[in-house]
Formats: sequence, C-alpha cells, structure tokens
Amino acid sequence: MKENMKKNLLIKSGSIIDPWSNREFISDVLIKNGIISEIKENIKAKEDNIVEINAEGYKVSPGFLDMHVHLREPGFEDKETIETGALAAVKGGVTTVVCMANTRPVVDTQSLVKYILKKGNSSACRVLPVAAMTKGLEGKNITEMGILADAGAVGFSDDGICVRDSRVMYEIMRYSTQFDLPLILHEEDDFISGDGLVHEGYYSNILGLEGISRLSDELMIERDISLAKRSGAGIHITHLSTGGSVEMIKKAKDDGVKVTCDVTPHHLFFNDSCLTSFNTNFKVKPPIRSEEDRKALVEGIKDGVIDAIVSDHAPHLDTEKNTTFRLANFGTIGLETLFSAAFTKLCVEEKMDLGKLINLISAAPSKIIGFNGGKIEVGSLANLTVIDTEAEEEIRKDNIASKSKNSIFLGQKLKGKIICTISGGNLAYMTNNIKEKG
Ligand SMILES: [Zn+2]
Ligand SMILES: [Zn+2]
Repeated sequence: MKENMKKNLLIKSGSIIDPWSNREFISDVLIKNGIISEIKENIKAKEDNIVEINAEGYKVSPGFLDMHVHLREPGFEDKETIETGALAAVKGGVTTVVCMANTRPVVDTQSLVKYILKKGNSSACRVLPVAAMTKGLEGKNITEMGILADAGAVGFSDDGICVRDSRVMYEIMRYSTQFDLPLILHEEDDFISGDGLVHEGYYSNILGLEGISRLSDELMIERDISLAKRSGAGIHITHLSTGGSVEMIKKAKDDGVKVTCDVTPHHLFFNDSCLTSFNTNFKVKPPIRSEEDRKALVEGIKDGVIDAIVSDHAPHLDTEKNTTFRLANFGTIGLETLFSAAFTKLCVEEKMDLGKLINLISAAPSKIIGFNGGKIEVGSLANLTVIDTEAEEEIRKDNIASKSKNSIFLGQKLKGKIICTISGGNLAYMTNNIKEKG
C-alpha cells in the first residue's frame, strides 16, 4: 500500500460495531502511522498533521472482506485490473478482496500467486489470491496445492466452472485435508444447465428463454457434501441460489460435515420476475431464481445456515453485456454495492440487526479463509469503514468506480452509504461531503 498516503487519523464520535464481541458503542478511534493506537471517548488531537473525521451519527465498522471477487488481471485488463478493482472495493467499504483464479493465464502456479500478491501490495486494499484446484481449470489434473499455499494462496477454487469428474473432486478433497485452506466450490452440473440462460420456471417459459433447473446446483451440492463427509475435507459452497441448497447444507452441518456457504446480495435482492425487462445485467450464474428461493436464502441468513455474503464481482465490457440476452455474458459487478444492497434488503426491509450483517461481510468470511480480519482493536493495522445508514443513493453508471459498469443494481435506490474507508492504515476512500479538518 502506498506509504505516502499514511496520515494520522482521528475518527470522532462514531458508533463502533465490533462483530467479534457483538458490541456497539460510541467512541473515538485514533490511528497513528496506520495502526489503531487508541479507542476511547474524547481523544484530543495533539499532533498538527492529523486528519480528523467527524463520524457523529455514523457507524464505524471493520473493513469488509469479500471472499468472492473477479479482478480479471492478468488477461482481461480491459474489464478490470487489480488496481481498479481495489478502488471499487474501498468505495464499497471492502478492505480485503479474495480474488478468483479464472484469469488468463489461470492462477495455477506459484509465480502467478506471487504476481497477484505483489500487484495487490500497491493497490488500495489488501488482495488475497485463490489458486485453481485443477490445472487450467480443466477439471483433470490437480494443482500443486501445497506449493500454491506456501506462495500465499488463501484457498482453492475452479470458480466459473464445476469439477465434473467426481473422482477428481474426491482426490482434491483428500489432498486438501493437508492444508487448512478452504475449497470454494461453484456448484453447477453443466450437463443440466447446458445452454440455459435463466432460472427454469414461469418466467423462462413466458419469455422463451432457456431455463436452468435448480437441479444444476443441487446435484453438485449433494455430491460434494457426500464427498466432504467421506474425505473429512472442509468445503465452502459459494453463491447459493436455491432453497433446496440451504436445506441440504443445514442438514450437512447438523450431521457434522465441515461445510460453510455464502450468498450474493443479488440473489437476496431479486427474483426472476426481474427478467421481464430483458436487461442483461440480470443474466448471472447461478441464475436469479424464484421468490420462494429468494425467501429461503433470506431465512438461511437469519437462522445462521448461510455463513457469509459475497459480491461475486464479475466485470464485463459494455459490448459483452449490451447485446441480446442469449449472447450476453453471465455476471454482475458488486463490490461497490455489497454493503448497501445487503443492508437495504436485510436490515431495512427484513429488520435484521446491523451487527449481524457486518459479521457476515467481515469477521465470518475472515474466519472461513483463516485470516485475522474483521476486528477493530488497539495495536492492529487500521482497516475500517464509516457508514451513513440513513443515506440513500441511486446506483448510476457515472458513479461507478469499477472499470466495468455492468451492475445489476443500476437504477436501484440503495440505503446505507460508505462515507470513508481506511484500508491498510491509509485513508483510501472518502466522500466529498465528510466534515474533515486538518
Ligand atoms: Zn461461480
Ligand atoms: Zn465467481
């Protein structure tokens, strides 16, 4: 991170949310040379070169950790780079990004893991790479997971596709028990999903769009739970989309299988009636499913079956989205709306406790990847975000920091605005309207 940005910072009178202790209290936070040096009331700024941020009426949260992001570098730098992705992240309050391996070349070697770590070091937030489970994401030969872990990979995933071959998947699981790192699984039976574009149901029928059955997700989840049970491996199932998946994972957890899971804000926010607009930003994988599924995902969050919320930030060029539904790429960006979309749906609409949401996007995913994050404590590097929970903002293309503008939330008014983000001890993002002096 850029050293010259490191200023002494004093955050005044914010309401501090600590997901580890499940507490909320009003306090000042003093940050010296990037390290949190004091958390108490009425800290007086003694130094001259201090930036004071008035956070009265705002929430101060640990910086968020998004454990499912596509930064597109190397290979697709016209869509996003590590640098632009990190700028989008801090605008959304995210101070740690876990990036997926489906770049070009695929992150399946030690040198590529190191390349991403190095690039991440000079970007606005912390970037932690996931390495591929199979070479070239081909689902055939297992990568050298030990070497990749030594190089700094925080998990393994073939995200984008599923490992078809059950024997290979079983070998990956058995091998992975040697490392305490998660296998992040994109569950899709692509024989079932085939050329499908959207959720198979009422709307796919009336709109004449090829459907993707819930079975596509659920068959693979069922398989991988069985394999995890047999191998003793820890698995993390990403971007749940169906009610049946929540049920299966709940049962597996009760049976003692080492399984965790996450969901995206867009799967919590929309149901497939959105497809009537033929807006290609709604074309995502897994697909936006029925209202029944959406409700089951919200319940999965409320009763603790779902462990984390992730963006699955997937930047695509305008030319790849601004086309017919059939030709458009799958995916939506999401780093900048991770908090506000989840907050609008879960806390404003469903009246869920804010502390619980903060946990789902900071401490909980940190624990899953074995990273000591999501904390506000004296002596630690400052990763914080200041939130105005009263503010509302319409998502517009001209206000998106990401290089790609394919947001599923375009035109939506979302509550909860990130006012300022301190990442790696640096003031990495700040809105214009914050009261700053110094
Ligand atoms: Zn995926
Ligand atoms: Zn993904």
